[in-house]
Amino acid sequence: MKPKIWLSSPHMSGNELPFINEAFETNWVAPLGPNVNGFENDIQSYLNEDRHVAALASGTSALHLSLILLGVGHGDEVICQSKTFSASANPIVYQGATPIFVDSESDTWNMCPIQLEIAIKDRIDRGNTPKAIIAVHLYGMPYKVDEINDIALKYNIPIIEDSAESLGSQYKGKNCGTFGDFSILSFNGNKIITTSGGGAIVTKTLKLKEKAVFLATQARDNAPHYLHSEIGYNYRMSNIVAGIGRGQMTILDSHVAKRRSNHQFYLDSLKNNDRITFLQEPEGYFSNRWLSCILLDSEETREGLRLALEKENIESRPLWKPMHQQPIFKKYPSYLNGVSDELFNKGLCLPSGSNLTDIELERVISAINAYFVTC
Ligand SMILES: *Cc1c(COP(=O)(O)O)cnc(C)c1O
Repeated sequence: MKPKIWLSSPHMSGNELPFINEAFETNWVAPLGPNVNGFENDIQSYLNEDRHVAALASGTSALHLSLILLGVGHGDEVICQSKTFSASANPIVYQGATPIFVDSESDTWNMCPIQLEIAIKDRIDRGNTPKAIIAVHLYGMPYKVDEINDIALKYNIPIIEDSAESLGSQYKGKNCGTFGDFSILSFNGNKIITTSGGGAIVTKTLKLKEKAVFLATQARDNAPHYLHSEIGYNYRMSNIVAGIGRGQMTILDSHVAKRRSNHQFYLDSLKNNDRITFLQEPEGYFSNRWLSCILLDSEETREGLRLALEKENIESRPLWKPMHQQPIFKKYPSYLNGVSDELFNKGLCLPSGSNLTDIELERVISAINAYFVTC
């Protein structure tokens, strides 16, 4: 059996260990410490906007705290992009609120502004103005930021920007992670940089960051004894984990460059195959190409190709199954145009890691070409 080629595996730089060693040497092993502040500062300066960052245990906890900080609770409705990973939607349910799913457009595969406005108007007509909009830059491609912002402003609904897959992406020269009322990042094992597990919330004011940190550290009031007047969470990132993050920040740009070059390689190698299409970067968009995705001419071709790659020990995965099709989320209202269903049927994510070698990339292309000879 040839060695496994992964979809997106962790890629350490060697710059992580000194930060971790320092934490051990100074006994900053307890949750907080200098790596946490250092990592937050690194992200803040990378984002390069007037934003504040709190490092957390995961992207999911960052989404959960965003909803709490926006006051989302029982009986509220929250609009969520249907084509996403389930972690975008789960925290809505944690809060006892109702997710309202909105379909995608085909230029970026993200939230469709037309369906968004239809959904908002309909929810208002039914007597429940949505409390928030969760929009996602899926696979690193920015959503239509201006269009979505305009609608959110028109109806005065805050945006939670899910940038879990898009650190290093830009829209009109500005970094993803700076477009929401709240934004979230993820450093899970498969993301563009990883701390093994982790995330961050990005806020517009220092006060909101401090509130997020307060909630993330068990909501302890200022007193010599343990005193609580709010429900707290254990959502803070640890100082050891943040040390990995500091090391990873030193190579973020080169990871983005490598992922983009993977995508370009697939595009160049497969451009003569008229049964495969790629998502183009619209004018003004810069994608980190976290995952390289292709669309096939049918669901049968896509599944056949996936199995052919699996036989060669190459991991690939269909594009995320939309939330409105998930057994657990089917019962919630959705506003659909068919785009995300078609993407799910025909789309495949190819190996995309920043640690892929030329030989591995060639193996993927050979396997794809071999499949198309037979089918
Ligand atoms: C990974 C991911 C999350 C969740 O982040 P975790 O750090 O794994 O909790 C949320 N949204 C999207 C779109 C993701 O890809």
